[in-house]
Amino acid sequence: MFEFVAVSKAYNGQPAVEDVSFALAANRTTVLMGPSGSGKSTILGLMTGLLKPTTGVIKFEGEPLAPARLPLLRRRIGYVVQDGGLFPHLTCLANVTLMARHIGWRKSQIDSRVADLASLARLSPDVLARYPLEVSGGQRQRVSLMRALMLDADVLLLDEPLGSLDPMVRAELQGELAGIFRRLSKTVLLVTHDVNEAAFFADQLILMRAGKIVQTGSPEDLFDRPTNGFTREFVLAGQSRVRTGGK
Ligand code: ADP
Ligand code: MG
Repeated sequence: MFEFVAVSKAYNGQPAVEDVSFALAANRTTVLMGPSGSGKSTILGLMTGLLKPTTGVIKFEGEPLAPARLPLLRRRIGYVVQDGGLFPHLTCLANVTLMARHIGWRKSQIDSRVADLASLARLSPDVLARYPLEVSGGQRQRVSLMRALMLDADVLLLDEPLGSLDPMVRAELQGELAGIFRRLSKTVLLVTHDVNEAAFFADQLILMRAGKIVQTGSPEDLFDRPTNGFTREFVLAGQSRVRTGGK
């Protein structure tokens, strides 16, 4: 579905992503993990065309991303930016329906889509009528997800979608999200710095460090057959946190 071929991205001469190549499998969940600053959000920015690679090629369905294809591409991608990115001056409902109204969906079509998604995300009309700052963190994350799902995009890019939540809400939402992915069979790329969350969601894992891919494979590959010391340490750090009860 997506393919990166030797992609690098530098900001003011400083490399953020270096010589990255991978293919994103259709209808599967791929998890991009790695420490803070390793280039995960930059990869998502490159996929949406919001950022341009310094060198290398990014392909979508076999064709390089060209500026003329970007508007269409963006309708086929649902993107949840890190921290949700809801407009604070619009109600949750207005945030969810913004793009659909912009491209001219009929009101009846919008209402029926919102009803389906609200039941999927377990959000009541009362919550959707409020502004983002008037709902809980967990509800805000669900609203961001509803917005990303609204146009029925084929690809979902989720940048630390559960990042700022407390552990109990996080665990609950993890279960719900996994159910949603299974039911909709989308191509999902989910970013997290949390190895346990990565293991929970991933069909495929990509581990990054300092802008480079360190290892890719199934969760079993990375957990049971690390090819290098960094993968071993990263995986172990997560597991030891589980054993010590999160301390
Ligand atoms: P992650 O999402 O894994 O935490 P990012 O992709 O956000 O990492 O950042 C990768 C590197 O690029 C970091 O060193 C970060 O400081 C740098 N960076 C990210 N965005 C910018 C920007 N707009 N300008 C300059 N440097 C940036
Ligand atoms: Mg990030």
